[in-house]
Amino acid sequence: MLKQKKIVDGIFLVYSDFKFWFKCGGILIKNNISGDILIDCNCYLEKEVKGLLRNKIDSYFVSHMHLDHTYNLHFFEELNSNIKIYCPFPENKYLTNFNIFLEETGLNESGLGELYRNISFESLKYKELNSVIGFTPGVEFAYDDVKIKTIHVPGHSPGHTAFIIEDTKENKRKILFASDIGLTQRGAWYGYTYSTLKDIKESVKKLEKIYLNDDFIIASSHGPIIFERNPEIFNNIIRKLDDIDHKLLTILDDNKPKSVDELMYKGLIYEEDQTNQLDDDPLLSHKSFTSFLERNMIMSHINDLVERKKIIEIDNKSWILNS
Ligand SMILES: [Zn+2]
Repeated sequence: MLKQKKIVDGIFLVYSDFKFWFKCGGILIKNNISGDILIDCNCYLEKEVKGLLRNKIDSYFVSHMHLDHTYNLHFFEELNSNIKIYCPFPENKYLTNFNIFLEETGLNESGLGELYRNISFESLKYKELNSVIGFTPGVEFAYDDVKIKTIHVPGHSPGHTAFIIEDTKENKRKILFASDIGLTQRGAWYGYTYSTLKDIKESVKKLEKIYLNDDFIIASSHGPIIFERNPEIFNNIIRKLDDIDHKLLTILDDNKPKSVDELMYKGLIYEEDQTNQLDDDPLLSHKSFTSFLERNMIMSHINDLVERKKIIEIDNKSWILNS
């Protein structure tokens, strides 16, 4: 069933309560004049999409093209031919051509392209879209009394976008929809090859600055609504990343170089046992897929630590502490 939690009058956090982890929450903005506006309302079931489409919808915004945010998007296009679907550059083209997504995430290069394509199109029933309007994050959209400001927060993905939603008609609190910036137990996610830790940290700091300089209610794709001001909320994401750096530095040696393979499944990102328990999961049950994510995330930390001169690369992709 589709749940709607009120953030302010007329604006809701929307999510499916279906027991399947690979889904996301989104925003529904009621607008009786030109039509409702949706952000990341991927839902889980077709009937949940139909529920949203009972009202007139003007526009649908995609924060970024990850499958948990987009596998049901085709229903919106099929069931409502007037809907305008917006997606930030360069990810708009991933929605109309899945192969570009497989290329730019590194899935093709790692040999996982076919597996990922099959899971997406067969298990998740994903379909490519016919028409997507690309936008440069930073632009503003205006709908009658509602203003939507887009903020480029790359790192999680190249076009990853957060949204400030402002109802100018009444004196309502502003909403910051932080998408997948990392407001979850696990924190930030950067499993594809297009991610860098440097971008993630800059994006988190960008949102923190916006948040601390005004009054916002926060919502995000996989977290609760946060009504109360919490000055540490974004800093906590950075702290989790720093914790992984520290762990990595304790595993590395100051004379015997270690390769990325020797750093995998040591609890930096995933535990080995944890991935073995995910048998019934369409994606994470594939050890090759979790290895790919684990490797990319550890490499993000290694690259960042090399740049910050904390570790040194010894020939053939092995690293030691810079003591
Ligand atoms: Zn994502």
